Amino acid sequence: MRFLSAGVKTAVLQSRRMASLLINDSKYAFLKDLGLSETNSGVFNGKWAASGPVTQSFSPANNLPIANIQNGTTEDFDKAVVEARKAYEQWCEVPAPRRGEVVRQIGDKLRANLQNLGALVSLEMGKISAEGVGEVQEYVDICDYATGLSRSLEGRIFPSERPGHTLLEQWNPLGVVGVISAFNFPCAVYGWNNALALVTGNSLIWKPAPSTPLTAIAVTKLIEEVLKANNLPGGLCSLVCGEGDVGQALVKDKRVNLVSFTGSTEVGRIVGQQVQGRFGKLLLELGGNNAIVVNDDADLDMVVPATVFAAVGTAGQRCTTTRRLIIHEKVYDQVLERLKRAYAQFESRIGDPLESTTIIGPLHNHEAVLKFKASIAEAIALGGKVEYGGKVLERDGNFVLPTIVTGLKPDSPVVLRETFAPILYVLKCKDVDEGIRINNSSAQGLSSSLFTSNLQNVFKWMGPKGSDCGIVNVNIPTSGAEIGGAFGGEKETGGGRESGSDSWRQYMRRSTCTINFSKQLPLAQGIKFE
Ligand code: NAD
Repeated sequence: MRFLSAGVKTAVLQSRRMASLLINDSKYAFLKDLGLSETNSGVFNGKWAASGPVTQSFSPANNLPIANIQNGTTEDFDKAVVEARKAYEQWCEVPAPRRGEVVRQIGDKLRANLQNLGALVSLEMGKISAEGVGEVQEYVDICDYATGLSRSLEGRIFPSERPGHTLLEQWNPLGVVGVISAFNFPCAVYGWNNALALVTGNSLIWKPAPSTPLTAIAVTKLIEEVLKANNLPGGLCSLVCGEGDVGQALVKDKRVNLVSFTGSTEVGRIVGQQVQGRFGKLLLELGGNNAIVVNDDADLDMVVPATVFAAVGTAGQRCTTTRRLIIHEKVYDQVLERLKRAYAQFESRIGDPLESTTIIGPLHNHEAVLKFKASIAEAIALGGKVEYGGKVLERDGNFVLPTIVTGLKPDSPVVLRETFAPILYVLKCKDVDEGIRINNSSAQGLSSSLFTSNLQNVFKWMGPKGSDCGIVNVNIPTSGAEIGGAFGGEKETGGGRESGSDSWRQYMRRSTCTINFSKQLPLAQGIKFE
């Protein structure tokens, strides 16, 4: 290097940096098959046109860079809104069933790329293969759901109290839907929004999490192919990768009619107030501190695997992860012992999320590992006992042991906080009523489950004095919601639903029309007009 000129040195360093990118490793050939390259534009508005700084996306399994991404700027965002708006003007006039046909094609395109895209989700986010593929499958499923929905976006007709009049309700698209998504579901969250927003006649602008841009770029490239094949403008599904500044531009822009935000309660609180401040529409899917309540009549053979799946899956980084296990005192010791045995069984299967034998992958980044350590330390300081785990693994990547903590009060600050890591706080209750009280003591209201074999408990749990969460499962864990049936939460989880039976209405506005088909104008009766 000593004898090289400055320009040559830069070129040599540059080529070394490129060679060390995982995209150039044949093990990850699926990245190029998805149309990704060493450096990728992170802005799509019909054209790929980013003008911001170049960053990198890293694999949580080894902290090595996967590929480079050129981010967008707020100016890029501005151009994307213009294109999204233009695309909307055309798209809103396409009949809904034809819009459904385009969404069906997007679903098919994803189906054809299921394994590759799933592998990218695993590589970039860190979740195991089955979950990476499962996440893309969720997008496919919502496309199917939305395709059917496109033929049933029904309005209603009401009888009027006036003779010769009828009340009609019609649903119209909103315009541009802005989607800001979280790192832990880099594909499915956009999918839920994308499929429903499209069939309801809207265009979209997507601002993905800064640490999972490659998944967003790969998804958008697949959508681009479908739009092109249908002679539709690419601006219909615009993308602007970037940091919080791009997110802020989206949140504050009046041309964005609905802001659909998925992320932490902390950021969601700011976003919510800002969108309200400009009278924009909002959909907030925020944090969760989910509990499973185990009654003494529960089938413990179901409780143990369900808890492990929901507390340890995605290394505790699902919004619906079980973070609190509230066990009836009569079965407390038995459940705890069985859980500890189950956790020990999986220790040898922590590892590379792309290996088929792996059951637990890494945390997403080093910051998450620090938060894991801080919460364990706080739990111990508050008198908690680490029954299992509690350690960071000495190896490349961001691996920790899934952890069980007992001995804390249900209202301990650390128990009431969502730490995005596999820490399970095990608590005791005297009966279902106390279990419900503890469940409801969290500020968030995303997901909850009751394990019982008693029908009276089931209806109490579902009713007004039961769980105050959006998801109130019985005998299945807190995660694993189904597309058409359930999603979304209450309290500090935000509000609104990205998925579920009536969520399409949130992507539309209702127009109510009173039609007078008589020759009378009853409102003006008795008044003479010249
Ligand atoms: P985060 O709040 O840090 O970031 C979410 C998104 O907001 C990112 O795209 C980020 O760049 C953007 N952002 C950051 N600051 C912003 C600002 N000031 N204005 C506008 N946008 C801004 O969340 P995260 O760490 O990516 O995700 C984890 C969180 O998301 C957890 O709390 C989890 O529970 C929650 N989550 C909820 C659901 C749900 O459906 N309820 C689903 C997935 C994740």
